[in-house]
Amino acid sequence: YGNALYEELFGIHAGKAATFVETPDGVVISYSRFLSRASTLAHALTRLGLKPGDRVAVQLDKSVEMLALYAACVQAGFVFLPLNTAYTATELSYFLENSGARVFLTPSRVEEAKLDAAIKLGTEHCTLDADGTGTLGELARGQSSHFETVPRGPDDLAAILYTSGTTGRSKGAMLSQQNLLSNARTLVDAWRFTSGDRLLHALPIFHTHGLFVGTNVTLLAGGSMLFLPRFDLDSMIAMLPRSTVMMGVPTYYTRLLADDRFTAALVEDMRLFISGSAPLLSETHEAFATRTGHRILERYGMTETNMTCSNPYEGERRAGTVGPPLPGIEVRVRDAAGKPLATDEIGVLEVRGPNVFKGYWQMPEKTAEEMRDDGFFITGDLASISGDGYVTIVGRSRDLVISGGFNVYPKEVEVLLDRLDGVVESAVIGVPHPDLGEAVVAVIATGHAVAPDPNHLSEALADQLAAFKKPKHYAFVEELPRNTMGKVQKAALRAQFDGLFS
Ligand code: ATP
Ligand code: MG
Repeated sequence: YGNALYEELFGIHAGKAATFVETPDGVVISYSRFLSRASTLAHALTRLGLKPGDRVAVQLDKSVEMLALYAACVQAGFVFLPLNTAYTATELSYFLENSGARVFLTPSRVEEAKLDAAIKLGTEHCTLDADGTGTLGELARGQSSHFETVPRGPDDLAAILYTSGTTGRSKGAMLSQQNLLSNARTLVDAWRFTSGDRLLHALPIFHTHGLFVGTNVTLLAGGSMLFLPRFDLDSMIAMLPRSTVMMGVPTYYTRLLADDRFTAALVEDMRLFISGSAPLLSETHEAFATRTGHRILERYGMTETNMTCSNPYEGERRAGTVGPPLPGIEVRVRDAAGKPLATDEIGVLEVRGPNVFKGYWQMPEKTAEEMRDDGFFITGDLASISGDGYVTIVGRSRDLVISGGFNVYPKEVEVLLDRLDGVVESAVIGVPHPDLGEAVVAVIATGHAVAPDPNHLSEALADQLAAFKKPKHYAFVEELPRNTMGKVQKAALRAQFDGLFS
């Protein structure tokens, strides 16, 4: 074995003076410097006594140091395990215990309770700050910038990434070298990435979108990144003219559109805008095209599968769809009993390909439940596939409302509501109901405007929806609850309105 993931993403750039990352404070880091740092950190981790396959849990603020740690893990054969910076000490104990991480990395300033959690589990705690200091930084001092790459095979684990926890407790997705590398190759091709690209990177790097989609694609192509600590309108507006590609969650695009400084002239040198991690409203897609002349390329993926579908680079980018499956990846739609469905029929989306993960860490039953015998992974997303192969994500099977025995797909109702005056956006949920089992409830985000009259909303839907699909109650909120990836937290809404009809 060699170590294909290391070689293709990192090793190939050894000695290059070309820029890899640039931060808003003007720091420019070349590939050569980045790789030297990564190797130095690989020595430091090795000095801790880690062995290939050991998990390195990382809860660090977004920084180039954290990326170097990722590279170090790949080079030394450790399993990189980034954690959402928002996780509290209690949540953290679950992740450390579940993953059996050997080492836990935090910034120097860290809550006592998190340290206690690590100590209790016998996980070694180290610190690494954005400026390279900290206890791991100390260990790295004076270490060689050359590290003998540890051999790893295509099926060896490169990372464990926890899912976002939108539908329940986060699960650790085991991602192999082959999972990551095959997807990076496919995306570089599909999105025409080259060494001339400069990616505007505002996403977190504890999630697949910012870490693997953004970073791996840039690395494989030998391009560079403008690395923002987080999404911030002023920095985005300042950096867009110097970028060629932007990746974002839908809320990034709606926030840009809400700013008058975001104009066609500002983005005239951009070649591509990509959206994912949550559904992009057709209205946003159209408004963006009208403002900038660019059609946002929407793609679809999961922590477990990397990217599965993408609208085409050339050809029709169809609003409201996530495009056809990427080359080498198969998708199909089945009903709950596993029966194949026809074109345009809605069912659960299943995926097969080199992108599909090795299973949930230490959850063999859960893995088995979601894998078909023929290798298809059951995504839990409801979708339909058009005659020409475009996939439309309708929502999650868990969010399907069953009212009086009839299926109500929330998106069908949301799309109609979103068009009405006074509605910024909407979330349709099922709430326990004594007669109906579940009743359809529409939660309407109104922004700062006055809430529209619920009677007007229901009149507007009068001849557009069958009675069983019509909301039985309208609730008004300033904005919908979302996590850092822009995902609407429907479970939280269901909990909030749980007692409405009891
Ligand atoms: P958990 O699995 O823990 O409940 P999660 O599914 O939100 O959390 P992720 O792996 O981050 O965790 O997100 C994958 C999900 O994001 C997909 O299953 C899908 O529901 C949603 N998603 C991603 N891209 C899109 C898209 N373009 N359109 C609609 N939904 C999308
Ligand atoms: Mg999921």
